[in-house]
Amino acid sequence: MTNHILLLGPPASGKGTQARRLAEYLNVPCLGTGKLLRNEIKESTEIGKIAEDFINRGAYVPDGVIMTMVEEWMVDNQSGWLLDGFPRTKPQAEALNNMRRPDMVLALEVPQEELEFRITKRRECSSCGATVAVKNSTDTICPECSSGELVSRSDDALDSFKIRYANYTELTKPLFDYYDDLGMLRKVDGTQSPDEVFNEITKLL
Ligand code: AMP
Repeated sequence: MTNHILLLGPPASGKGTQARRLAEYLNVPCLGTGKLLRNEIKESTEIGKIAEDFINRGAYVPDGVIMTMVEEWMVDNQSGWLLDGFPRTKPQAEALNNMRRPDMVLALEVPQEELEFRITKRRECSSCGATVAVKNSTDTICPECSSGELVSRSDDALDSFKIRYANYTELTKPLFDYYDDLGMLRKVDGTQSPDEVFNEITKLL
């Protein structure tokens, strides 16, 4: 059964949206390391204090910090998971393989120009956590829960995005080859609408 899945892809490729839908579809918990880190920052924990500066600079949070957080999460979530934004480096991928190998790795492919366009439109709901593409910058109420306020992420400024994209190319993109060599990689055209991407993914399961 395919119930240990990870989603790879550049920032704003739609990982978070697909991860939420897929986790619900498969009835497995979803781990979004970016979301966990933003919570740690909000609650001013030790991890949050370390992570904040890295995230605001668009840099990756050190592998040791990420693994501490993920290992803790995995203890209670062994029977299945959907991983969004983890692993992002080869040491993280190797550490995950030592815990539990994924059944399938889904790689969302979207060209850089499209990602830059999306990042300027992207907002996150401060209440339900949904990621939303706004048509106008004046849209402030979440269409998913109809009450939460839509806010821009602090690391979604274009300059910060460019650094994140460079990190992705250098440190995360090599994981495509890593998982391809292990026979786990399935590529998905992430330029399609969210529904089309979701349909393509469900056919691969
Ligand atoms: P995301 O919400 O997945 O885009 O993550 C937001 C930010 O959190 C990233 O730009 C990184 O700074 C940090 N982050 C999230 N997951 C990881 C990870 N697995 N390894 C290193 N840094 C991460």
